[in-house]
Amino acid sequence: MGSHSGTAEARAFAIPMRTRFRGIDVREGLLVRGPAGWGEFSPFPEYGPRECSRWWAACREAAEQGWPAPVRDSIPVNVTVPAVGPERAARIVAEGGCSTAKVKVAEAGQEPADDIARIEAVRDAIGPRGRVRIDANGAWDPDTAVRMLAELSRFDLEYVEQPCATPEELARVRSRTGVPVAADESIRRAEDPLRVRAAGAADIVVVKVQPLGGVRAALEVAEACGLPVVVSSAVETSVGLAAGVALAAALPELPYACGLATMHLLEADVAADPLLPHEGRVPVRRPDVDPDRIAAVEADAGPWLRRAEAARRASVAGDVDPGAGPRASGD
Ligand SMILES: [Mg+2]
Repeated sequence: MGSHSGTAEARAFAIPMRTRFRGIDVREGLLVRGPAGWGEFSPFPEYGPRECSRWWAACREAAEQGWPAPVRDSIPVNVTVPAVGPERAARIVAEGGCSTAKVKVAEAGQEPADDIARIEAVRDAIGPRGRVRIDANGAWDPDTAVRMLAELSRFDLEYVEQPCATPEELARVRSRTGVPVAADESIRRAEDPLRVRAAGAADIVVVKVQPLGGVRAALEVAEACGLPVVVSSAVETSVGLAAGVALAAALPELPYACGLATMHLLEADVAADPLLPHEGRVPVRRPDVDPDRIAAVEADAGPWLRRAEAARRASVAGDVDPGAGPRASGD
């Protein structure tokens, strides 16, 4: 790996998504095998080398170092409900088998009534003892967020994820609603959690392994922040997902279900035994890449190796993302 990436096994993949998610229809990335196992490098298409350098660091950690020891052997997870109609939303919850559901809201082309109907269907499907959280991906302005949360409070929301774009807006919403606020897109760099906490912007932080540069880096972020952490995926294959599972498994406290039940969003996987939830929990394990499965979704590795090399150079140069980068890392 690194400057000798030719000596490591590297396979690119392109896997169709069951539902258009975060503006993409196909999830693409690179899998790299090192002495510790397989790592995944799957930054979203618009990310430049500096942004990608953290995703590459996460891939290298997986392939070369492996992860810290787990303190639990399975992870409670939520089912994620995209911006679909109420009947399909209810079916997704029923098939998901999880006692926590996360519902996407405020997506382009959706009216507030669509969001409300979807959340109502999810609450009915999951039952009064289930937990329902929503995710606006930063799309509401503060007044809309406060108004919608007041309307939605009858569904007993666990929390709202990134109702608005900036930490300052999150803080304004948080001061005007009884629904706990989780920061997701606002947590993209190591210094962000402290900024979010200082701004009074969140009760909970959503943490992903690849954007933060690996499991160890994410553990440090969680510890420095001191707020409860929800581990989420970036909609990876089972290889990348295993890193998120390893992070959730290593956290000292894990009070909320994690966003790691995302394999169902992809039409295929690279593992013969994908990291799927069973009875609302994902086991702590590390699936191997199956030769037939990767062959079935294989893409040209050339562009990905060049992208990885550019990410490596950006990290060697010591570049730090200077400001607001591309939006969001997804889930
Ligand atoms: Mg989110």
